[in-house]
Amino acid sequence: MPDYAKRFKTVDTNAVHAGAPEPSIEGAVIAPVFQSANYLMAEEDSYDAVRYIRLSNSPNHLLLQARLAVLESGDAALVTGSGMAAISAAILAFVSQGEHLLAQRTLYGGTQSFLDEDAPRFGIDTSVIDIADPRGAVAWRQQLRPDTKLVYVESISNPLMEVGDLEAVVAFARQHDLVTIIDNTFATPVNFRPLEIGIDLVVHSATKYLNGHSDIVAGAVIGSQEKVGRVRHLLLHLGGALDPHACFLLERGLKTLPLRVRRQGATAQRLAEMLSRRPEVRKVNYPGLESDPGHAYAGRLFSGFGGMLSFYLEEAARAESFLTRVQIPLHAPSLGGVETLVVQPSRSTHLGQTEEDRERLGITDELVRISVGIEDPDELEADFVQALEG
Ligand code: PLP
Repeated sequence: MPDYAKRFKTVDTNAVHAGAPEPSIEGAVIAPVFQSANYLMAEEDSYDAVRYIRLSNSPNHLLLQARLAVLESGDAALVTGSGMAAISAAILAFVSQGEHLLAQRTLYGGTQSFLDEDAPRFGIDTSVIDIADPRGAVAWRQQLRPDTKLVYVESISNPLMEVGDLEAVVAFARQHDLVTIIDNTFATPVNFRPLEIGIDLVVHSATKYLNGHSDIVAGAVIGSQEKVGRVRHLLLHLGGALDPHACFLLERGLKTLPLRVRRQGATAQRLAEMLSRRPEVRKVNYPGLESDPGHAYAGRLFSGFGGMLSFYLEEAARAESFLTRVQIPLHAPSLGGVETLVVQPSRSTHLGQTEEDRERLGITDELVRISVGIEDPDELEADFVQALEG
């Protein structure tokens, strides 16, 4: 059996080499796709050790999981069939019937719907906390219950790009013996590694930046051996394993993650600054802007602000016209690929929520979300300007 312990010092080198099998399999420079559902028995002493795709232990899984653990500064990682498989399995591994969790006020719509619609059917209740609230722990304590087990947050929230006081969240969770889970999809381990500040588990929609090419759906959970082991054991039963071919594509995408994320962040900063000067734009949400409420928190913890931003136009009709006038960006959901995407969150990611909820959170029809790609920044900026002026 090869060893998957290879690691170097920097994110750039690790993105290319960490976890690569040693010795290399048949001398292959790129680990091949192991399109085999099962493997010969070799005196395994537990069910988890039996080699079978659903148990996430093919060579493609082992390599990828080793690399993701290194990139996120964790001891262990698990890849999953989607980001939602990672999120739902991670939450259900730590909260049981009759228990309670605290969740950030605005979350990715799928996570929000899982907490609002599915978790209650398993007897799991959620209370909302505002992690950007300067009163922090004082306000959050009011939501605590004797059966509270977990705090769930996003490092940069979807679609309002909120960055909260994550260090205060960790301190609060430690004080009250709560497990912390963070969705680090938008920040990526290039810009922020939450385990280093004491978060327990990181989850990702690997569909997005980690893969970066909009051609697979995948997820990941990273943390300690013990905590990831608990999620893995549950995922065996839920059945949300990732296919080896998707593992191969995700591993390939990871190699360019640092290059893509830095380029996307630099262009996003430039577009956010341009948009915030435009008369047609009411407000820009981007933690890289000094005026952004999350800027101070993000500046302290992150090494970059990411490639996602959103902005409000004056009217919904203006937002619709912007979406049809842009020439380079594609009007599509999802994010984190090499191509720039534009979307109205109220009509896509958050369509599953009621209009009343969307209105309360500020996810209105005037809001446009941009996932910045790697295209030429001058060309993109000029395209945005012509679309705004139309
Ligand atoms: N987390 C965030 C921040 C997302 O934006 C998404 C999807 O858009 C998910 C999780 C869910 O991931 P997936 O679609 O891979 O299940």
